[in-house]
Amino acid sequence: MAFVITEACIDEKAADCKDVCPVDCISEGPDQFFIDADVCIDCGACETACPVGAIFYEDDLTAERKKFVEKARDFYQSQ
Ligand code: SF4
Repeated sequence: MAFVITEACIDEKAADCKDVCPVDCISEGPDQFFIDADVCIDCGACETACPVGAIFYEDDLTAERKKFVEKARDFYQSQ
């Protein structure tokens, strides 16, 4: 499990999350930031820092936001 960045980040890209992540597992993508689920330690710092409420724990995602898990996976697989 990991934290996941969702639609509110798209075109917002405040980047506050990237500044607070203790394991540097947040990367900027073309339209939003992404969390690397293989590195995230579930500390929750990014969720608190995000000014637009874009970040959720994976288990707490609504059905329509679950696509952002796959979107992040696809982003890191393409790196
Ligand atoms: Fe980084 Fe913590 Fe957010 Fe995971 S939960 S992405 S480790 S700040």
